[in-house]
Formats: sequence, C-alpha cells, structure tokens
Amino acid sequence: MNIDRIGLIAGKKEINSEDLRYLLTLSGEDMKRLFEISAAIKKEYVGNVVYYRGLIEYSNRCSKNCYYCGVRVGMKQLHRYKLSDEEVLEAAKFAWQKRYGSIVIQGGERADKGQVANITRLLQKIHQETNNELHITLSLGEQSEETFRIWKENGAHRYLLRIEASNEELYRKLHPQDEHHSFAKRIKSLEALKKLGYQVGSGVMIGLPFQTIDDLVQDLLFLKEFDIDMNGMGPYIEHEGTPLYKYRHLLMSKDERLALSLKMVASLRILMKDVNIAATTAMQTLAPDGREQALAVGANVVMPNLTPVKYRKDYQLYEDKPCLDEEAEQCASCLENRIRSIGNEVGYGQWGDSRHYTSKNS
Ligand code: SAH
Ligand code: SF4
Repeated sequence: MNIDRIGLIAGKKEINSEDLRYLLTLSGEDMKRLFEISAAIKKEYVGNVVYYRGLIEYSNRCSKNCYYCGVRVGMKQLHRYKLSDEEVLEAAKFAWQKRYGSIVIQGGERADKGQVANITRLLQKIHQETNNELHITLSLGEQSEETFRIWKENGAHRYLLRIEASNEELYRKLHPQDEHHSFAKRIKSLEALKKLGYQVGSGVMIGLPFQTIDDLVQDLLFLKEFDIDMNGMGPYIEHEGTPLYKYRHLLMSKDERLALSLKMVASLRILMKDVNIAATTAMQTLAPDGREQALAVGANVVMPNLTPVKYRKDYQLYEDKPCLDEEAEQCASCLENRIRSIGNEVGYGQWGDSRHYTSKNS
C-alpha cells in the first residue's frame, strides 16, 4: 500500500500533475485511503456541513448545440418551456421557507434582450419576496460582460459556468466549430465573471469520449489556476439523441465512471482545500447513493431539485436523470436522512459561501 505517498501529496504546498495523475489512477485499498484523507481534509477545512442550493431549471430553450446535451437546439422534437415568474417565485419561496439559504437558476443559453430582462426582473422579485435572505446563483451560459454586470447589480451573487473540458482540442470535439461555441469565448466569460466579483463556479464532465487521465489532471490544475470558488464536476452521461452518442463504445463502464468521478472530487478537495464542491445530480444517475458517496469523499454542496415536476422530463440534459417525478418536499426530506447517515449535517439558513471566496475577499 502507498499510504505514505497519498498523505505526503495531501500535505504538499505545490501539488503537481504527477501527483494528481497518481491520485486519479489509484484503486482498491489505496483508493479507499485517498477517500479517507480527502474526507478528513473536508472536515478540517470546511466542516461536515452540507449546503443546499435549490435548483430551478428555468428553461430548456437554448441557442447552442453542444454535442453532449439533451436540450441542444438540434433536438427538434423536444417540447420547449420557460417557467412563469410565478412558478420561479413559488420555488424560490419554498427554498426560503425551508431555510435552504440559496438557490440556483439554471437553463439553456440565450443572450437576447428578453432573456436579460426576464432574469433581471426575476432577481428583483425574488429578493423582494424573500426579504433579501436568499443568495442567488445563475447558470445561464455565456453572456456579455454588460449582461453579467446588470445581473450582478440586481442581486446575483454567484455564477456557474463549467469549462466542460479545459483541453481546447477536446473541447472542440464536444462542440460545433463556430463562433458560438468557441473555447476562447467561454474563457472570456469566466474572466468577466471574476472581474465583476462574482463567486465563480466551474467544472468539467468526467469520462467523456476521447478524454484521457492527463486531460483530467489538467482540468484539476485549470480549476486551481483559475482560482475557482465553487466546483461542479460530474460524470458524462450519454444521451441517445445527441451526436456524441455514436462514440458510446469508447466510454468506461458506469462503475468506472463513478469511481473516477469520486477520485476527481477527492483530488480536488486535496488540491483546493477550502472551496465548495457540489455532489452533482449526474453522480446519482450512476448510483442511487452517488451524491452521498461524493459528499463522503469531499463534496459539501447539493442541489435539491425545485423545478415543478411537469417540466422535469423536458430538462433531461442526459438520460436517466433522477427525481423526474418527485415533488420538491419529498426529495428534500429523503436527502436530509441520507446526509445524516454519512455523518454530515445540513447547513440550514446559511448561505454557505465558499470559504475560499470569503477568505480571499476579507
Ligand atoms: N446552458 C448552461 C447551463 C445548463 S447546462 C451551460 O451550458 O453552461 C449545465 C451543465 O450540464 C453543463 O455545463 C454540462 O456540464 C452538463 N451536461 C450537459 N449534458 C450533459 C451530459 N450528457 N452528461 C453530463 N452532464 C451534462
Ligand atoms: Fe445549451 Fe448548456 Fe446544453 Fe450546451 S450544455 S446545449 S449551452 S443547455
């Protein structure tokens, strides 16, 4: 066993690509040891507290055509929806009354004036009706700096924009070759968000076709170099109606993808000790307790789904997305029990800002 080497890496000031490659290739008892160490680091740096972000899947209308995604514009048969203001407000108030502390408004990418105005109005209304007590995260794709600024001024605190794959060559294989899907534009958006003072979230998909372990090592180093505050990494899950589906023979098994995703979470916790890391819904697709497994090895955020049930089947970014028919309440209470079962508690009534962000800005 290489217990010493894992511990030594965890204690290093400058963890390098060789160290990360080593962590990501562990198996058996060594992998378990990695998970013990990452769990201990989580406890020491951010505590065994899990923060809820109520997820509101605002709209599946999207102007982009990412090759992996089930709501891409090329999905011609898909019923397209947008929640009404009342539906969003109801979900936000549910989160507030249940003392979630924070919500995420996520949806397809649209940059038209209507979208900018809709989100601005929703931000204002949510803050008014929840006594300014909720922290709001947006995840609505790439936007101009001006749009990011308007939304920030109207009360958006955080923004999630995954880099998806930090290797530009791999990124190109996952997206059409046009100016709407350029890697440079994605980076520019992340830079604008940082400059404007958002708490910035990013992340990648794990187990993509053509992706190597070295790509994942570089992904971890990218998140570190970009000094990301919040991380959402999850397994890539194939979707039958998408162009990437034809490469499914290149994929790892679901068990391997889950193990690799857990190693990514654990390695990131070791690399960036005080950041927020989400246990993503895609983890739950690979195993019913996939999110709890991620929480047990270093993640500290979950996003209970608050989208009205009738829309959920239309927001399937990938296949077998869980909780398609559960109402918000049911999802939340079973989740709390599961979080307790791994010795963590829920941080009710707390914003759960990334400690990484607050210590940088204090
Ligand atoms: N439109 C916005 C936000 C919604 S998509 C954006 O793209 O940033 C949110 C995330 O879903 C994406 O960042 C992507 O990482 C993830 N996703 C999309 N398709 C997926 C798939 N097939 N498997 C796993 N994750 C997927
Ligand atoms: Fe649209 Fe986001 Fe899906 Fe790409 S990943 S098609 S931007 S919803």
